[in-house]
Amino acid sequence: MVLSAGEMSFVREADRWVVSEVSNQSTGYRPDISSWSEVARALDDVELGRPSGFTHEVVFRRCPDCQEHNIVREDDFVCVFCGSDLPAAWNVDPTA
Ligand SMILES: [Zn+2]
Repeated sequence: MVLSAGEMSFVREADRWVVSEVSNQSTGYRPDISSWSEVARALDDVELGRPSGFTHEVVFRRCPDCQEHNIVREDDFVCVFCGSDLPAAWNVDPTA
């Protein structure tokens, strides 16, 4: 089971590595931004310094009408393919 996915970069601070940038930008898994809690837990488990949340958030939604995957920009929850309204809650199942 994939709990989150995205991109991450690191910087060297003093004598250790810390996470400088982290996002949920994965066009394969399209995780919800709420998956941050899983990312934070994983980083804390290995004692890596980290930001308090995603430094870049991507809002993924699947259109209930045409089934296309959308990236929601500027809180505009409208399908760019067919114009239908997109749901407020994350509805992307990466295994579908
Ligand atoms: Zn659509």
